[in-house]
Amino acid sequence: MARLVVVSNRVGVPESGARAGGLEVSIRPALRRRGGIWFGWSGRVSDRDPEPAKTVERDSVAYVTMGLRKDDYEEFYNGFANRVLWPILHYRLDLAEFSRRDLGGYFRVNEFFARNLETLLKPDDVIWVHDYHLIPLAKALRERGHKNRIGFFIHIPCPPPEVLTALPNHERLIPALGHYDLVGFQTETDANNFSRYLTNECALKRIDDDRFAFDDRTVRIGVFPVGVETEAFARLARRAMESSFVREVLGSLSGRIMMIGVDRLDYTKGIPERMNAFERFLAIFPEWHGNVTYLQITPRSRTDIPEYGDLGRLVGEAVGRINGAYGEASWTPVRYINKAHSRTALAGLYRAARVGLVTPLRDGMNLVAKEYAAAQNADDPGVLVLSRFAGAARECTAALLVNPYDPEGVAIAINRALAMPLEERRQRHAAIFKVLAQNDLSHWAERFLQALEHPQAAGNAPVARRAAGQR
Ligand code: UDP
Repeated sequence: MARLVVVSNRVGVPESGARAGGLEVSIRPALRRRGGIWFGWSGRVSDRDPEPAKTVERDSVAYVTMGLRKDDYEEFYNGFANRVLWPILHYRLDLAEFSRRDLGGYFRVNEFFARNLETLLKPDDVIWVHDYHLIPLAKALRERGHKNRIGFFIHIPCPPPEVLTALPNHERLIPALGHYDLVGFQTETDANNFSRYLTNECALKRIDDDRFAFDDRTVRIGVFPVGVETEAFARLARRAMESSFVREVLGSLSGRIMMIGVDRLDYTKGIPERMNAFERFLAIFPEWHGNVTYLQITPRSRTDIPEYGDLGRLVGEAVGRINGAYGEASWTPVRYINKAHSRTALAGLYRAARVGLVTPLRDGMNLVAKEYAAAQNADDPGVLVLSRFAGAARECTAALLVNPYDPEGVAIAINRALAMPLEERRQRHAAIFKVLAQNDLSHWAERFLQALEHPQAAGNAPVARRAAGQR
């Protein structure tokens, strides 16, 4: 089996401190199983020359990380990746702050990645590049003569060409994806949006349902919705219920029903909109006053970017307003916490919560939604209230799907979830769990790597289209 080289902006080096986001959870099991290299940025920044590459070996995986210069970090990461690509790919043209300097930094850091990566590469390595930070990496490697099979998976959404073309210089960036052998998306909508871009903007010839001719090569497009470790997460949640932490939280509720939300503090997650919906819920359904506690766990992220600070203040104000207006000396409607929690703690809290509120305005997948569903007790499960704009909604069709821009609609869904009879809860949970078990995280990585390494084996059938449960 060819060696696997994973490349992503951040590397989940074991024992290096707290992890953040879904990427680490998704990749590490695949790498451990096959052995190989995980290459990327160490997270460290220096004023002068970046610190040289450092390698940590664990469980037949070499974690190779390098530092970045401060100006590279500012332009590539804080600038183009997080202030231009992140908002635009999440359909938020209003928040994009484009500058040519940042775009230059983005290409420069991708060259820097390619230069350092090529010293590690063997000709038959299979390379798997992750996410929007590294769109031009295959092009940079191809220009250096590397003919390896290279796949790209984008964890966040791909908007339609009508939105994507608002990205200044998109014609320099997006077509560079043609240098990959396989480009994977979370949902069919994302894949179709990209196909339309290739057809409309690049006039690429479509060979069949999922292949385009690109110069003298072929680029394949596939749908690979990221999963969670469904059964293992269910077991973790069962055990976590016995932990002193979860017992203490449950004890503090004094028998009240708990609802839970878990999201990084990010404008894509729709947290202020969710607070408005919860406020509407309290206004329309007074019978729940004093009976429901909404726990919102929101670790801060990207604190260097002003919009994220503004968002923190906005959410804090909304929580204060709701608790001030509806709270009692003996009851706080919203508990709002900025501390990150361990997976075990979250698993237990999910299981203890009667309702999981996952209402992003736009999300590539949203692992929290899947984790919440996986963690439930099948005999007495909670109800997932899920934004139709999360990738997870394509598989979790038995959740209560909501429009996060409609606070009253979300409020009504919360009431419905809280009042839902046991039999309906069981049926909905069983339907979601079945889909999540079929598309377990380990299958996800294997399916992507199979499609990348053995494109012929997939025959003429569209690569991984209409993945388990997707409609
Ligand atoms: N997470 C965590 N601790 C926290 C908050 C979140 O471990 O305090 C994890 C969560 O369990 C999930 C991931 O972070 O696995 C978030 O992934 P998701 O796709 O929901 O959102 P992202 O942050 O990647 O946009």
